[in-house]
Amino acid sequence: MKIIEKITSHYSTILFTTIILSFIVIPLAFTQKFIIDEDTQKIQIELEEPEIDFSANYKNINLLHTADKKVENVDFEEYLVHVVAAEMPVNYEMEALKAQATVARTYTLYQMQNGGKHKEADICDNSQCCQAWISKEKRFEKWEDNQQEKWDKIRKAVYSCAGDIVTYNGKPIDAFFHSNSGGTTEIPVNVWGGSNFPYLQVVETSGEDEYSQYYSEVEYTTSEIEKKMKENYKDFSIDWKSKEPIKILEYTESNRIKKIKIGNKNISGVEARKIFELKSANFTYTKKDNKIKFQVKGYGHGVGLSQTGSNTLAKQGKDYKEIIHHFYKDVEIQNIKDK
Ligand SMILES: [Zn+2]
Repeated sequence: MKIIEKITSHYSTILFTTIILSFIVIPLAFTQKFIIDEDTQKIQIELEEPEIDFSANYKNINLLHTADKKVENVDFEEYLVHVVAAEMPVNYEMEALKAQATVARTYTLYQMQNGGKHKEADICDNSQCCQAWISKEKRFEKWEDNQQEKWDKIRKAVYSCAGDIVTYNGKPIDAFFHSNSGGTTEIPVNVWGGSNFPYLQVVETSGEDEYSQYYSEVEYTTSEIEKKMKENYKDFSIDWKSKEPIKILEYTESNRIKKIKIGNKNISGVEARKIFELKSANFTYTKKDNKIKFQVKGYGHGVGLSQTGSNTLAKQGKDYKEIIHHFYKDVEIQNIKDK
């Protein structure tokens, strides 16, 4: 019923084109290029096949606005302007903004090709789910001055690399990014488990410590620690008088916490990060009297491109392609406009 109503509206042409692309052209293009591994259920690319034709789904995307649940059909590159405006500070270097735009473009295409997270849209505007998006009005309200100049800077960044995406074996990568790596990025298996991604490796970046996102502290009383643990584990208990009531058991390849013992529970660093609301799983702690203080390095999951690291590399004279090659290994940058 909804579809019929919409088709009769003045958006009918756009919608109809989108439907044709979504249900006929794109599936036809992709079924020939991907194979599904029966054992792992993972989609693999058939290397013998010609490269994927991205042009069919490049021009427009369906964006879900999570606040009012409305789906808007938007121009792909223009959508990215709003994403970069939401994801990265505008005072960052032009090449860092371009790297962010390329990564956001890649992330979007990856979602579209792998079914995405939403039935009704290609992607949503929520950073916790897909990637952040901000309206021009909201962005202008938040910027104190030179709003148009700032917006134009972001548009320039997006359009000067329009169509560029990051690929591995000819396929868009799952282009994870985060705020600050704390000096070293993480591999995905230590954050989400599952199979490894060859292009996401442990990468060191100098200069991350120059940003406010690099270091943070969170302090709790011992009773607050107990309360938070009990909210997650009903049978939690801890003897603060024991020799090591809290003990780090194992580190990941990037020196983040892999496993930590808190009282009678062994939990992952990622879990501890969530429970104690830490900015990353790269932390140490100190205990003084009845206070536990977490000292945290970096901001975010630490996988893929670091935004502050990108800015540092740009300041060192690296262009956006070099920045991308720093954070993603053995990848190529391909342009989907040319295809
Ligand atoms: Zn989403």
